[in-house]
Amino acid sequence: MKIIDLRSDTITLPTEDMRRAMYEAEVGDDVYKEDPTVNLLEELAARMLEKEAALFTASGTMSNLIAILTYTRHGNEIIMGSEAHMLWAEVGSASALGGVVMRTVPNEQDGRLDLGMVEQAIRPENIHFPRTTLLCLENTHNRCGGTVLTPEYTSAIAELAHQHGLRVHLDGARIFNAAVALDVPVSELVAPADSVCFSLSKGLSAPVGSLLCGTQEFVAKARKWRKMLGGGMRQVGIIAAAGIIALQKMVARLAEDHATARHLAYGLANIPGITVHPDRVQTNIVMFEPPITIPTPEFIQRSNARGVRSGSPGGRRVRAVTHRMVTKADIDEALNRIEFLVREIESEAH
Ligand SMILES: *Cc1c(COP(=O)(O)O)cnc(C)c1O
Repeated sequence: MKIIDLRSDTITLPTEDMRRAMYEAEVGDDVYKEDPTVNLLEELAARMLEKEAALFTASGTMSNLIAILTYTRHGNEIIMGSEAHMLWAEVGSASALGGVVMRTVPNEQDGRLDLGMVEQAIRPENIHFPRTTLLCLENTHNRCGGTVLTPEYTSAIAELAHQHGLRVHLDGARIFNAAVALDVPVSELVAPADSVCFSLSKGLSAPVGSLLCGTQEFVAKARKWRKMLGGGMRQVGIIAAAGIIALQKMVARLAEDHATARHLAYGLANIPGITVHPDRVQTNIVMFEPPITIPTPEFIQRSNARGVRSGSPGGRRVRAVTHRMVTKADIDEALNRIEFLVREIESEAH
């Protein structure tokens, strides 16, 4: 039985081109900035995002933490959405290692934050208050189901933050999915943010890595924080080589993942008992709910036993993520298996 793995786009394996580039990569000691392949990747990322500079890091989690360490001091407050990946899935690093308070504003269903609520969350000067120094945005928004923030919205909220003296960091782990979905240059989406990070290791299929981009001054400071965290790697061009291929060859094809995600969502909508909103699917993430007679963890486990893997962000929801390693035919097969499972569940309930 073929396993159809929809747990995450992080499971994508490196392509043959990547393997070859890794084998052939010219390398040096990156802590001395002497790895030509890393330097090339950082220059390429900065150019594509139209930021002054970029820093190659081990992961998105490391990039986000470095951004916080670079912009804030212990005791500062930072604002983010109530569904932010930085809040839910980064082990509390902002507080544990950054020493900052995470102040949340409720995310709307589509991943946005209400401007009025953000403004209210920004602390005025008062001897009792921590200082608010950073606003964190997320595009695409993971827990909101891969929803995109438009350039117009991003500009408006960044302008508000800047008016109050805050910096803006954009967690753009899947920013290229957003750019492809909106059909706008990625540079336009990230222009309002002071810094942005994105993942090479998700839909772009590279084995490892993230880039943190911003001004020369920001990246110079970030580089030092990366060293402190143990992220100063040596001949890391071996890995960066795959990242170059990811940026050069894997961006445009993300549209295919968005098409398979829509196909999955509309197929699920045809299965009685499943709750799903196909019109809310904007990129490669599909959220749905199993029949009410079965707890979500049990549904996921039984689906897994039938070779369809998925995950849950908690509550009733199941999360399915499409990527390069699942085809439209795989989705058809997954839909068949899920339909069969749902029928079985409903017959047990009677
Ligand atoms: C995956 C993800 C990250 C973290 O990336 P890792 O490389 O897994 O550490 C950060 N933010 C968002 C929105 C993500 O989806």
